[in-house]
Amino acid sequence: MISVKNLSKRFGDHWVLKDINAEIRKGEVISIIGPSGTGKSTFLRCLNLLERPTGGSIVIDGVNILQKGTDEPKLRRKMGMVFQSFNLFAHLTVLDNLTLGPMILLGKSRQDAESKAIELLKSVGVSEKLHQFPDELSGGQKQRVAIARCLAMDPEIILFDEPTSALDPTMVSEVLSVIRRLAKDGMTMAIVTHEMDFAKNVSSRVFYMDEGIIYEEGKPSDIFDNPQKEKTRIFIQRIRKFCEKVVSRHFDLYKLQANLELFCARHTADKRTVSHILLIVEEVLGQMLLPLFPGDPAIELTLEYSEKTGDFQLLFNYAGLQQNPFLLLPDSDNLSLRLIEKLTKSSSYQWIAGRNHLSISI
Ligand code: ADP
Ligand code: MG
Repeated sequence: MISVKNLSKRFGDHWVLKDINAEIRKGEVISIIGPSGTGKSTFLRCLNLLERPTGGSIVIDGVNILQKGTDEPKLRRKMGMVFQSFNLFAHLTVLDNLTLGPMILLGKSRQDAESKAIELLKSVGVSEKLHQFPDELSGGQKQRVAIARCLAMDPEIILFDEPTSALDPTMVSEVLSVIRRLAKDGMTMAIVTHEMDFAKNVSSRVFYMDEGIIYEEGKPSDIFDNPQKEKTRIFIQRIRKFCEKVVSRHFDLYKLQANLELFCARHTADKRTVSHILLIVEEVLGQMLLPLFPGDPAIELTLEYSEKTGDFQLLFNYAGLQQNPFLLLPDSDNLSLRLIEKLTKSSSYQWIAGRNHLSISI
């Protein structure tokens, strides 16, 4: 359906895309992942000519769209785009947001446009909001309306640019469910996303972008479980596991907690779980571990998410005397200890290779 060859894009003297080669077949769902700033958005924007590529070719249904004389508006109608920031028309009702394009660009009658719009809004679960304005909707509802608006134009492919990044964690799954349903219905889609579990479960192929190219591509199981190239491996490892070293008594707890929160959000942890994790980290570091170090501490903290069990596991790893910190705290009236016990599924202490390992499941 789409064949991209040697695509490049330069801003000033910065080559953001160096040499992109990709094929997207009808009915495929492609997840595009990679560190930020590696040109994922630029790639999508080049595909639908929101950005003019510097070189290369993009062939869609046999036509090279970069050749002069391409009917750009017609091309854009084949491709819907859904943005992180929704981009709904703020001064139009939900219904009008959906009917404007089909009436003006596709020449549909108001009646046809409206009945299709109502059907689509039903399918994304916001049919009771027809006459409201975007500002009156939650983020998740806005994004579902944006997807419905895109579908109202009968696109052949939809490009999503981080469709859930601007949403509260509680609203991420309602939007992902809609996208998942589209995938099941056979819609061709390319999705830039940080939702790795989603990318793993929904996509037919994954593109990992780095260094201005599609650095590695493959089936989700190849990319996530068995990446072949160094940078992909590092990226996947980082997603799986959050690691941080605490090496000063005056470490920035708030920054650490913010980073933990971000990691949790990427694994769609609910608010309760997140707040438990933050609290446990604060208590374990502050009340249990820091007092063990006479000077500056050297503690490696990791947080891991298990897709199998849906649990988060916190690990604290540090050198020093072999001693189980749970046993060091006076038991009966210790609030920290009781808090931690109350909030965890299980915890354990081990002495391995000369280091203390404290492991807590949440
Ligand atoms: P990603 O979506 O992977 O985070 P982007 O495609 O947004 O990356 O950006 C890749 C690089 O291109 C960044 O360094 C960004 O600053 C630069 N860039 C993107 N758009 C423009 C633009 N319109 N003008 C100049 N530089 C841009
Ligand atoms: Mg981007």
